Amino acid sequence: MKTPVADLLSGDVVRRLASFNGAGPVTTCYLDVDGRRYVRPLDYEVEFDRIVRPMRERASKDLKRIEDHVKGGFDRSHTRGLAIFSSVADDLWEPLHLPVPVVSRVVVNQHPQVRQLEAVIERAQRFAVLLADRQRARLFVFQLGQLVDWSERFDRLPRHEDDGGEMVKDKRQDHVDSATRRHLLRTADAAFELFQESGFDHLLVGAPNDITGALERTFHPYLRERIASHLNVPVSAREDEVREAAVAAEDEVVRREEAADVERLRSAAGMGDGAVVGLDEVLSALVERRVDTLLVSDGFEAPGWRCLSCAFLATRGPTCSVCANRMERADDVVEEAMQEALHQSVRLEVCRDNADLDVLGRIGALLRY
Ligand SMILES: [Zn+2]
Repeated sequence: MKTPVADLLSGDVVRRLASFNGAGPVTTCYLDVDGRRYVRPLDYEVEFDRIVRPMRERASKDLKRIEDHVKGGFDRSHTRGLAIFSSVADDLWEPLHLPVPVVSRVVVNQHPQVRQLEAVIERAQRFAVLLADRQRARLFVFQLGQLVDWSERFDRLPRHEDDGGEMVKDKRQDHVDSATRRHLLRTADAAFELFQESGFDHLLVGAPNDITGALERTFHPYLRERIASHLNVPVSAREDEVREAAVAAEDEVVRREEAADVERLRSAAGMGDGAVVGLDEVLSALVERRVDTLLVSDGFEAPGWRCLSCAFLATRGPTCSVCANRMERADDVVEEAMQEALHQSVRLEVCRDNADLDVLGRIGALLRY
């Protein structure tokens, strides 16, 4: 069972789940099944067993159905995360296979927990993929793991018959003849038309070295500043090869943005202005609702305390330092902090293999004020 990416992007699935109103409890399970981290199915099955362990004594039909789905095997070529919503009592069964990774967790509640799904969709960046050589060009849009061919655009564009005087200069610079130059201008026009029509965050360019410079000089500045990566993919490549290259480029962009945020965190915290690092400081900022972006090292866990009166999370208990009520123990306050962040619509970044964040205490927050 597969949900089309279009349904995800339009938010229809989220709206349907968010408005779900049943009598019985709903079990929500997010599971990271990314093949890069979980090479064999057994690897994410172990992770699944770990996150459901605390609720084993409440063995339910929902949990069983989710487990059967997770352990039943599925195609991971386009799936990096699962979001499963189940309520046997109310006839709800929505196993979503997402083309992006998620933070693994399972929750039983009166409603489907859709925040993480919402965040994944909101943060899905849009990429244009432009492949060209001296004769041909292809254009794609890549978003949420899906590649859509826009190449028919080229046929609808006017031809560049007259290059004016610019050609001479460019010819000297790039050694492209005027036919190639006209072709590159049309290629750049198509990409710019796509940008004007529906926008994109990043541009991925695949072209032979000897024309890359000439091609990019024909780009509108808006396109040039969006070049995120160069793909080593020929214009004749199969769609799945293009898609695979786009997935890798997207990962690189995400890692770069994470690294930039961690750097921003490090320098702002160093100046004591606009950021905090370390678990205690982050938990305080969270209860004060000052967090704009929460950065957490993947796998960071810490036991602590949770206040049921004021929602404060703390590493030390049992008395709440905010409202002085008695707190209860929490197995993992980092997990609870991430939930609270999602609840507050804070941007959440779970950083993988970021040594700089590890050094800062494995958690930090960029603040609103
Ligand atoms: Zn309290």
